[in-house]
Amino acid sequence: NADAAMYLAKDSGKNNYCFYNAELSKSMARKMEIESELRKADRDSQFSIFYQPKIELKSGAIAGMEALIRWEHPKLGVVSPTEFIPIAEETGQIDSIGEWVLYQACQQTATWHRAGYDSLCIAVNVSVRQFQRRGFVSTVRNILEQTGLPAQYLELEITESIMRDVSETMKVLQGLKKLGVKTSIDDFGTGYSSLHILKELPIDTIKIDKTFISNMEKQANRSMVRSIIDIGLNLNLRVIAEGIESEEQVAILKDYHCALGQGYLYSKPIKAEMFEKLLADSILLAKA
Ligand code: C2E
Ligand code: MG
Ligand code: MG
Ligand code: MG
Repeated sequence: NADAAMYLAKDSGKNNYCFYNAELSKSMARKMEIESELRKADRDSQFSIFYQPKIELKSGAIAGMEALIRWEHPKLGVVSPTEFIPIAEETGQIDSIGEWVLYQACQQTATWHRAGYDSLCIAVNVSVRQFQRRGFVSTVRNILEQTGLPAQYLELEITESIMRDVSETMKVLQGLKKLGVKTSIDDFGTGYSSLHILKELPIDTIKIDKTFISNMEKQANRSMVRSIIDIGLNLNLRVIAEGIESEEQVAILKDYHCALGQGYLYSKPIKAEMFEKLLADSILLAKA
């Protein structure tokens, strides 16, 4: 987008050009700094994984959790994944970061299973690049073997953008299904989606994007949410709503037969130790 910004800047006069140019180089410097700090980052001390519960709406039981990476750099402080993940995707650093997350999340979940919380499912975000990389399915298989987590307790969250290369995506999804791993379309409704393709994909879950949930007081958005849930149910998919912040939203979602939800109303993403406390104080879903 740098070119577009330059173009706009030139277009709106000389002074603006300087202003935009300065802004632009500032953001490019930031990007380069993040890229190089990511390369040097000592994963085990700078990265951590937070967990956010997924709730069965009708009972309030914890069905599982989503793993969300956190990066605390000694000088830069906390850097949001919305900032560094896209950079890591561009540079290819996401391959090894993603593998680290997957391993840690599976290992933690296997530990919780051994402690008796053996119905918990872990959801891990996977970027398009990671997903389409050769050998991805065997990487997942190896991590499951090494950590001892049974495949059916792992769900991979991918975005609609994977639908751009349908034939490749199909192969990977089939490989994962054969392993027994579940898959979910994250941020559903915001991206490149075709209902025709959706119908053909061997996926398990769609996750309604939080922008639809947060605007549900508007009738148009409510209708949208209802339609997405209906599509999911008609295709025999599980439907989860992300970004739930109020009881009103829960009531509407339950009314529309949405089974699962996630959001600040229940809990923000929290550290593993905190999540253990949450588990101890909550009801859990019965083992399937
Ligand atoms: P996502 O996978 O769609 O995750 C949901 C985001 O919404 C998370 O932001 C979560 O903290 C936030 N969230 C959850 N509940 C609520 C709520 O009730 N209200 C609001 N306003 N927000 C809520 P987070 O942790 O900053 O992550 C942002 C994005 O970064 C994720 O979006 C995902 O795309 C990416 N990401 C995070 N961890 C990883 C990872 O390990 N690998 C990859 N590839 N991407 C990751
Ligand atoms: Mg996600
Ligand atoms: Mg999402
Ligand atoms: Mg999102």
